[in-house]
Amino acid sequence: MENISIYIHIPFCKQRCGYCDFNTYAGLESVIPAYVQALCQEVDYIARSAAEGIPVHTIFFGGGTPSILTLEEIEKITTTIQGGYLILPDVEITLEANPGTLTKEYLFGLKDLGINRISIGMQSALEHELGFLGRTHTFDDVTQSVDWARQAGFDNLNLDLIYGLPNQTMDDWRLSVKAGLGLRPEHFSLYALTLEEETPMARRIKLGALEEPDADLAADMYEMAGIELERQGYESYEISNWATKAKWGKSYACRHNLQYWYGKPYLGLGAGAHGYANHTRTANVLMPLDYIEKMKKANEIDRLVFPISPAASECTNLSPLEEMGEYMMMGLRLTKEGVTDEVYRKRFGMTLEGCYGFQIQRLISLGLLEWVDKPNRRLRLTVKGRLLGNQVFREFI
Ligand code: SF4
Repeated sequence: MENISIYIHIPFCKQRCGYCDFNTYAGLESVIPAYVQALCQEVDYIARSAAEGIPVHTIFFGGGTPSILTLEEIEKITTTIQGGYLILPDVEITLEANPGTLTKEYLFGLKDLGINRISIGMQSALEHELGFLGRTHTFDDVTQSVDWARQAGFDNLNLDLIYGLPNQTMDDWRLSVKAGLGLRPEHFSLYALTLEEETPMARRIKLGALEEPDADLAADMYEMAGIELERQGYESYEISNWATKAKWGKSYACRHNLQYWYGKPYLGLGAGAHGYANHTRTANVLMPLDYIEKMKKANEIDRLVFPISPAASECTNLSPLEEMGEYMMMGLRLTKEGVTDEVYRKRFGMTLEGCYGFQIQRLISLGLLEWVDKPNRRLRLTVKGRLLGNQVFREFI
């Protein structure tokens, strides 16, 4: 079986940030023990439904706030995974952490449990922006967390930053980028604020209580940050992601996320998690209590085939055309690599031009895509195309 990735969703946060539309809940901490129990059941169920051992090369605890779990709860989950899957020796195990929840002991404990990559939600270095976003941490918490993580032995850290906020100036953003760079993480994820309907922030903007972010300024911020990061030795490898250059053969690009961008299989476990394996896309029920209930009743229903979970609310068999479209949409996010013609042909039995000749020509003429010939012939976004990614991806779906 092909190497697989496991995504574990932890849908709990101390409080809800004003811009967030993720599947996460504040004030539900009392159900965490039952949720962890249900997660372990799901981990085990999927392992048993596979015809052979599942080789796992990345595990990602995402959220929500995975660092809200106790070390014992994380250990329970990792031990269950180890018991049912073939964990590869070089497995990458990432845990997303909110700096306000981290302590030195906790980080040392995570390292002992085999977690080897921490993704820290820094977001901004400016206290007024953190307050505006509804974050519960300060920039000092971020600095302290990075310091403790280094002491604990973590050599693979990511910082998440957000830009394009209402009233944010270029100078504000520059200060955050510089402060992040000062912490020398191996990886940066920079996200533009997306205003999702029904979030408190989107409602305030709609009511005129808050200024709408300036999309042109956000594009300039993206460009400025990219230049600054490259100048400091980071390489852009995906639209929103930069990593330090590989050292001693080790790359710091996030291998878990690369699995998505390469169109390779992953299991999505936990409430609201999405998965993709065996030409099947799955999505679990959103609410933690529904998820717990579904897993409690797992033994009362007929055994489901891999990769379908008793907690699934959606399960779609993808047609070859849909898989091709998704492959393009994900692969084109890779800014350096793009989609390699030969790899595409091996997977789908046709060349890129054979499938999408018209769309490719059109997007090249708009200056959004380009062919690169060395070392392999591949199609990728231009610098302009990176800013208009959604317009490009739409053409393939
Ligand atoms: S900490 Fe992250 S997941 Fe939780 S509410 Fe804030 S933005 Fe959303």
